[in-house]
Amino acid sequence: MQGGPKNVLVAIVAFLVLILLVSRLTHITRHIKRIPYSEFITQVERNKVNEIRISGHEVEGTFKDGSVFETAVGNNQADWELFKKHNLVVSIADTTASSVSIWYLLPLLSLLVASLAAVWFFIRQSRSNSNSGGGGNIFSMGKSRARMFMPSTIKETFDSVAGATEAKEELKDIVEFLKSPEKYQRLGARVPRGVLLVGEPGNGKTLLAKAVAGEANCPFFSVSGSDFIEVFVGVGAARVRDLFERARQRAPSIIFIDEIDAVGRQRGSGMGGGHDEREQTLNQLLTEMDGFQTTGGSVIVIGATNRLDVLDKALLRPGRFDRQVEVPFPDLMSREEILRVHAKSVKIDPAVDLYKIARGTPGFTGADLANLINEAALNATKNHSQELVTMHDFEEARDKIMLGKESKTKILTLEERTVTAFHEAGHALVRLLDPENSDPLHKITIVPRGRALGVTHSLPERDRYTESKERMLTMIRSALGGRAAEQLKFNRLETGAYSDFVVATDIARKMVCMYGMSENLGPVVYSQQYGGYQYSPHTAERIDTEVENILNTCYKQTYEILEHNKEKLDILGSTLLEKETMYASEIYELLGIQARQEFKFT
Ligand code: ADP
Ligand code: ZN
Repeated sequence: MQGGPKNVLVAIVAFLVLILLVSRLTHITRHIKRIPYSEFITQVERNKVNEIRISGHEVEGTFKDGSVFETAVGNNQADWELFKKHNLVVSIADTTASSVSIWYLLPLLSLLVASLAAVWFFIRQSRSNSNSGGGGNIFSMGKSRARMFMPSTIKETFDSVAGATEAKEELKDIVEFLKSPEKYQRLGARVPRGVLLVGEPGNGKTLLAKAVAGEANCPFFSVSGSDFIEVFVGVGAARVRDLFERARQRAPSIIFIDEIDAVGRQRGSGMGGGHDEREQTLNQLLTEMDGFQTTGGSVIVIGATNRLDVLDKALLRPGRFDRQVEVPFPDLMSREEILRVHAKSVKIDPAVDLYKIARGTPGFTGADLANLINEAALNATKNHSQELVTMHDFEEARDKIMLGKESKTKILTLEERTVTAFHEAGHALVRLLDPENSDPLHKITIVPRGRALGVTHSLPERDRYTESKERMLTMIRSALGGRAAEQLKFNRLETGAYSDFVVATDIARKMVCMYGMSENLGPVVYSQQYGGYQYSPHTAERIDTEVENILNTCYKQTYEILEHNKEKLDILGSTLLEKETMYASEIYELLGIQARQEFKFT
């Protein structure tokens, strides 16, 4: 913090403390004596009182000898007669303004002001320690602390972001729009407003956002959601207003809000006090996002979070953050690319095999990989006086980072990843072997996202309004394929299959209770939930039996299908383990299955 404001503050505080002391002293030296009402009346009757000032029930007065006293009176007509009879000078203070003498108020007031000033002072100081970019005086509370980057200083482009192909693909739209908004408006396309980048820290959300600014050649305002969180109500909202004001002045421009969940949490969900302020801030953000159509160009807001689940739903409505872009952990190929990008800045021994390093670093984020290169280079300079960074340096660096990560985040062991790979392969294979009754596969991945260890995605060919029994059975078998593969391959059971069972059970229940697709119960709707009627405990048992039958039969069939196709399961599982993410075309090629058209317009 600069000397100026600090000295001013110290002076203010000192001055206030002085006033406080002086007022205390005057109070003491003035020697106000409190007397009972009865004595006051006696003194008046004896003609000893010169003058009184009444304020509500409080009375302050002077005796004829000049000494000061105070007392309290009732609202008594007889008293007034008495005062009149003894020619007392009576003045009445306005009680609505203040019923207490200023000499009482002053110490309190100065104490209050002094402590406020002190609080302010501390906040200023802690902020200027934590943030070099902020304005440095006490009058800039409501100013946003966003850092602004002009286009000429932004070096990042999409080329600086390795991997993340899908995220880049989705963000290209935004770049196009920022470059030529007229084109969008002419065609009547809805103007994008906000994009949410969702992913774990270190996977390149900030990098991507900045790359959008770099590609579109427009100013970039960067701020963290926690910068809006303040103790004083209204300050956060004022900062939001200020930020959008600044961004609009430079439109087209990008506002990047990191950790947007800090402001964007579901309203009314916080515990204890203090969320009034946050709600105001969030409301202001919503207002700004709704309103910022300017003639000069648009402001695009890019938010980043790894907690999509806690965000207020209002933020995700159309016209706000209506696009969500996943920024996942990098898979094998992406890790290799990220290593290549960062390896450019150091001198590497030609014998270093970046592919091999990528294989040895599952669960590493982009930031971890950048760090790995850096650590390796440090090792090289420290360990030996060689010119180049060797494979050995990399291995040492990897082990070090791995150790640090293990304590913080969960890195899956090779064993866990192997089981996951075969589990996902099981899901996928069941569908691949029954193409008639399942949606085409899109991709499989064992890169963890959220709580899921792996995911098998499919693309529906068209919106379906009805499902056939066969399709439903295949869905069940596909859901059970994960567990069946685990059992077949490793003969062990994992809890990971739980959510698959939820899916399978739900389908089976609906088949029995809603769609009349069971062996023995026939075309009757059984569940109240599904619009049916009450049924007897006996029927409940029969429903349970039917559901069990469907699930058990399906499981047996699934196991047999996979058993018959064990070589396919093996090759798919082990390839997935290596590549981590596989697209449909790769899978078809690997298994020698006739490729299916992914989309059909019907
Ligand atoms: P996040 O915002 O998701 O926490 P960052 O964008 O801050 O992650 O990433 C931190 C650093 O990690 C980046 O500055 C960059 O050096 C490196 N990094 C992350 N992802 C990538 C990537 N896909 N390509 C290249 N470098 C990356
Ligand atoms: Zn599963």
